[in-house]
Amino acid sequence: MTTEVLGISEESLCKAKKYIEEGEAVAFHTETVYGLGANAFSDEAVRKIFALKGRPADNPLIAHVHADYDLSRLIDGEPPYAAALRAAFLPGPLTMVYPSKGKVSKYVSCGLDTLAVRVPSSPAAQAFLRAADLPVAAPSANLSKHVSPVTARHVLDDFGGKIPLILDGGNCSGGIESTVLDCTGEVPQILREGLVTREMIAAVAGDCGVYVPQEGERPKSPGMAYKHYSPCCRTAWAKSAEEALQIYKNEDMGCGKPLILCESGVIPKLFGARALDLGDTGEEMARRLYALLREGERKATLLIGVEPKEKGGVMAGVMNRMLRAFGGDHET
Ligand code: AMP
Ligand code: MG
Repeated sequence: MTTEVLGISEESLCKAKKYIEEGEAVAFHTETVYGLGANAFSDEAVRKIFALKGRPADNPLIAHVHADYDLSRLIDGEPPYAAALRAAFLPGPLTMVYPSKGKVSKYVSCGLDTLAVRVPSSPAAQAFLRAADLPVAAPSANLSKHVSPVTARHVLDDFGGKIPLILDGGNCSGGIESTVLDCTGEVPQILREGLVTREMIAAVAGDCGVYVPQEGERPKSPGMAYKHYSPCCRTAWAKSAEEALQIYKNEDMGCGKPLILCESGVIPKLFGARALDLGDTGEEMARRLYALLREGERKATLLIGVEPKEKGGVMAGVMNRMLRAFGGDHET
């Protein structure tokens, strides 16, 4: 199969609509990362997504809809705080988990009685979802466990020849996946941290929890149980510039090609060691992280991540992705 990479136009949207109706998978731009979408009403189309990615069968997908789609067609009621959160953050990088009406394919939620829905804000995503005019089940458009894609090129690297169309909307400005929020309880609870932070949610909803799976319990967000976001090269995790330099020197002496991934403030402490600069703020680091992980895996035999100093706000999401990519102690 040839994979076409097309910008947003009447013609490309027409093709995308046709492919979705035929049960094919189409990759599309969002403000977080690229998604790999298929008709959420079709068992066969949804199963194709799992097969293409090599995604475990118990890791549910998010149903994406355009901004005017009537959510009550898919979800079975919502608490008052959820309506306030929708008004405040949608369209945007917030996925909300609701009781499901069971209208979409059972494979979307992997047998759970809830449904995760998201209204992305990127104009390219909105144009695609309006053209499709049905809920599009979509995970990130990367092979399972690999780093999420933030450019059309990244999608092509993982799925070239396997899907008919990538809708190219440019680089993803957000850079890490959406915040996943459980809206089935009295208080909203974050299942996956992202660009809409706990602080932002609590300011609107009055309160916001962060779900931590208990030992032996089936996690509420099954995706978080899997190793994720991993570069193809070996990785190491360092708590300081000094520790990173030590690991770097060992690899260098063994004739490997080490590369350090760190925030800007660490670079002067590396005395010229080769490094990839994540930037200064949480937003900047989120935007750059996945492109740099993909650059790192191409250039290095060993990629060394350095723990950033700042931990609050968007950095909670960045830290979560870094620890999982670098095999730190956060794996759940
Ligand atoms: P991805 O699409 O690859 O960003 O992954 C989607 C994330 O949303 C995974 O972490 C899933 O576990 C989570 N998710 C999707 N549907 C549900 C649901 N019904 N309940 C809880 N988490 C969900
Ligand atoms: Mg993913």
